Amino acid sequence: MKRRDFVKGAVAVGAAATLTGCTREMIEGKKSVNVARRKKVKLKLATSWPANFPIMGTGVDRFAEKVKAMSGGSLEIKVYPKNILVPALAVFDATSSGQIDAFHSGPYYWKGKNPAFALFSGLPLGMVASELNGWMNYGGGYDLWRELYARYNLYPFMGGNTGVQMGGWFRKPIESLADLKGLKMRIPGLGGEVMAKLGVNPILLPAGEIYTALERGTIDATEWVGPALDIRMGFYKVAPYYYTGWHEPGSILELTFNKARFESLSKEHRAILHYAAEAMTTEMYHEFMDQNAKALEKLKELGVKIYDFPPDMIAAAKKAVQEVVEEQSAKSEDFKRVYASMEAYYRLVKPWTDISEAKYLAIR
Ligand code: CA
Repeated sequence: MKRRDFVKGAVAVGAAATLTGCTREMIEGKKSVNVARRKKVKLKLATSWPANFPIMGTGVDRFAEKVKAMSGGSLEIKVYPKNILVPALAVFDATSSGQIDAFHSGPYYWKGKNPAFALFSGLPLGMVASELNGWMNYGGGYDLWRELYARYNLYPFMGGNTGVQMGGWFRKPIESLADLKGLKMRIPGLGGEVMAKLGVNPILLPAGEIYTALERGTIDATEWVGPALDIRMGFYKVAPYYYTGWHEPGSILELTFNKARFESLSKEHRAILHYAAEAMTTEMYHEFMDQNAKALEKLKELGVKIYDFPPDMIAAAKKAVQEVVEEQSAKSEDFKRVYASMEAYYRLVKPWTDISEAKYLAIR
């Protein structure tokens, strides 16, 4: 009896091995095929956002939940909102040094380290989210980003996209380019550098101070993100002129790991992080679409009016973007290379966008 059972078992294992391609050792459990059986790995991830920050923050929490589910609990990411483990804008250095394992933030915050990093967030009056995704994945964007971040022992993934951001809230209407002269505006990144060329004084302020500065007239205008996040800041109460966007046409958010730590993970865990990051990028983009639409409806109920910047201002901004690009390219070889790659992809993709989505959006 015993021998017959043994033979039957051996045949069954052999058949299963043939069907699944697994080795006998795997099926008999001598070699783990299930990542859940591996030693539990825990990673610390800090964000630049406050706890429960809508879309950008809650999306990271969902990312951590997905990673845990997909890994059968063997990979756990503990998410720390800003200022819990490290200050909001110290996450890059803390991950680079290995103090923490990963961060969620935006690449343009690190342009002081390398001006080229600002481009990984996108370019004013440049490509939109779908085009930027094409550049990153198929046009060499990721290769350049990973090459430049490797100097800081970092390995980046896209971690969301805001879609087109609004042009901002103004205390007075902007009827011509001349109306911008001398205005103080809270606006970061390359958009701020372009605005400076149009006569604006770009100012950086912590999120918590913008409303009061706008209310008191210490600043004349601010940009933030879009209806979903702007409505919560209450800007409409003190700066009622809300303008359509040009300076952040599809800002890429980042999910970046300490490179050595990332490479020390198993192949399965790395694959899980890769696809969970892609899911986060798509989900955040879709959630922004949904939440912005709903908030826009509310803003309209509150009496907010939407304006377009005057044509002379947009024409001047287009010229100023080129000036900023030329100046930065002269100063930084990295900026020059990243911009060249981006520009080549823009020239490739724009004719297609123009005859596909742009045509369709104009007639529907
Ligand atoms: Ca913004």
